[in-house]
Amino acid sequence: MRCLLCERLSLAYLCRFCRDRLLAPQPAHRTLSGELTVFSFYGYESIEPLLQAKYHPFGCRVLRHLARASLRPFFRDLSLEHPTALIAIDDRPGEHFSHTAVLARHARSRHLPYPPGRLLAQSRVRYAGRDLAFRKAHPRNFTLRPFKESSALLIDDVITTGSTLKEAAGLLEKHQKTVLFAVVLADADRA
Ligand SMILES: [Zn+2]
Repeated sequence: MRCLLCERLSLAYLCRFCRDRLLAPQPAHRTLSGELTVFSFYGYESIEPLLQAKYHPFGCRVLRHLARASLRPFFRDLSLEHPTALIAIDDRPGEHFSHTAVLARHARSRHLPYPPGRLLAQSRVRYAGRDLAFRKAHPRNFTLRPFKESSALLIDDVITTGSTLKEAAGLLEKHQKTVLFAVVLADADRA
């Protein structure tokens, strides 16, 4: 088979070169208007074929690999002052699995529980390749189910314009939840 990222011949879905690169995530952050800070670990383009794997059954393994390399060390070193829940963006199982649930399961810990299915989008419109104007005209219309922690961290796979995360954070804050920050695997604004 060929490596998903570089298309070199490989025995696994990632060649050794690409595995090593993924094992060296580069944490960075940006702050959205409204003051939401979003941490990311990769530039979108550098791992795009891996992120697209979420549309295939084997994508679960790819996402696990990414989450173990990036999210797990990040969350292991995190200490939080207040009871905080990890809230995944729209973690309704899709055709094969929920990609944000896979990420959240690798990020959660004893101190950071992940209650599934708390923030589900009512709108099934797909944002891939759409601009900010389209996204603003078609909000995801999240519904929020209760959870007991007073604070939350948001988790998603990709940030492009940030409109999804801002909409999600706005809804949580309306329900008196403090959104500390958001974490994504990849940022489309990064090289
Ligand atoms: Zn490769």
